[in-house]
Amino acid sequence: MLVCIVYWKKDVSMYQIYDESPVKDMSVLSVWKGEIMSKKYDLVILGAGPAGITAGIYGVRAGLETVLLEKNYVSGGQVLNTYEVDNYPGISHISGLELGEAFENHAKSLGLCIEQGEASGIHKEDGFFQIVTEEKTYLSRTVIIAAGAHPRLLGVTGEQELAGMGVSYCAACDGAFFKDKVTAVVGGGDAAVEDAIFLARVCRKVYLIHRRDQLRAARILQDRLMELDNVEILWDSQVEEILGEDHVTGVKIRHTQPDVDNKEKGSRELSVDGIFIAIGVVPNNQGLEGIAAVDESGYFVAGEDCRTDTPGIFAAGDIRTKPLRQIVTAAADGANAAASALQYVEVHGIVKGCKTM
Ligand code: NAP
Repeated sequence: MLVCIVYWKKDVSMYQIYDESPVKDMSVLSVWKGEIMSKKYDLVILGAGPAGITAGIYGVRAGLETVLLEKNYVSGGQVLNTYEVDNYPGISHISGLELGEAFENHAKSLGLCIEQGEASGIHKEDGFFQIVTEEKTYLSRTVIIAAGAHPRLLGVTGEQELAGMGVSYCAACDGAFFKDKVTAVVGGGDAAVEDAIFLARVCRKVYLIHRRDQLRAARILQDRLMELDNVEILWDSQVEEILGEDHVTGVKIRHTQPDVDNKEKGSRELSVDGIFIAIGVVPNNQGLEGIAAVDESGYFVAGEDCRTDTPGIFAAGDIRTKPLRQIVTAAADGANAAASALQYVEVHGIVKGCKTM
C-alpha cells in the first residue's frame, strides 16, 4: 500500500508519493491510500453509459488494452432512469434497465473489462495518464471521458429538504410510489414530457409546470402528451417553493405572464403528493477540472471526433459539447472516440497488432 498526498499550490493541484513529511509551503488537500497499477492500458474509459460502453466495444475489437471504470454497480448511466426507450434503431420497446444490462452483457461478451471506480483526478507523467480513483491509480496512453451528466437542481426552498420525500429527479424510478396520487413535473424538454406521460399512467392527475408558453420536447412526445386527459399544463409558471414538512404536500407557483386584464396573476399553491424535476442536466466533470477545455456550462469542448484540446484525452456522449443528447448520439460518440484513441496510439507508434474496428 502506498500513501499519496495531494497538494495545492498556485492553482495547480498535484500529488506525489512520500514516505517522509510533505514539503512545507504546500497545503495538503487530502491523503490518498491506494495501489498504483503496474499494468499500462492503451485506453481507460470513464463511464458505462451508451457512450462509454460503445467506446469499450470498439476499443476491445480494435485490440486496444482497455478498461472501463463505472462509479455505479450497474451499467447504463442515465439510460437507467428511462422507463421506456423507443427511439433506438432495431429495438422498438425496451426498458432503460434492460437496455443498460444488454449494453453491459454485450461489451463483456467481447472481453471488455469493467471495474467499479470513479476518477477523482487525471495527471500526465512519463507519457502516461494517471487516472486516480479511491482504490487504484490506472496508467493509460489515452482516456475517453464518457461520464455523462446529472439532473439540474431547481434551487428553491423545499427541494433539498424534501428530496426523497416526494421530490424526485427520476419518474421511471419513483413514479410507482405515486399510484392514484397527484404529481407535478417541472420542465418543458424531452425528459419532462416523457416523465409526465409516464406518470399519467400511474397517477390520478399530473401537472406539467413549464416556465414558457412552448415546450421544447420533440413533436412526437408533445402529441402523445396532448392526448392525455389527466395531464394539465401550467404554462408560463415558475416554481417558487416546494411545500411540506416530512413529505411533499404542495408546490407554490407563480404565473409569470399578465392575464387578460393585464394583471400579474401572482403566486398560488397547488396540492400535490410528489414533484418530479426534469429541467435539464449538468455534466459530470467533478474531479476532471483542468484536464481539457470546457464551455461555459462545463461540457468538454470536442467535435465529432471527440478530441479535446488535450492530446490523448477524448470526450464522448452527454459530457461533450453537442447539439443533440440522445442514446444513439452518445453511442455514436463512443465509436468515434475509440477510433480517435486508436489513431492516437497508432500515430505515437505504441499499438501492437491492431485489428480493424
Ligand atoms: P433540456 O432539453 O435542456 O430541457 C430542459 C427544460 O427545463 C427546458 O424546457 C427548460 O426551459 C427547463 N428549465 C431549465 N432550467 C429551468 C429552471 N431553472 N426552472 C424551470 N425550468 C427550467 O433537458 P432534458 O429534457 O433533461 O433533456 C436533456 C437532453 O437529453 C436533451 O438533449 C434531450 O433531447 C435528451 N433526452 C432525450 C430523450 C429521448 O430521446 N427520449 C429523453 C430525455 C432526454 P426552456 O425551454 O424555457 O429553456
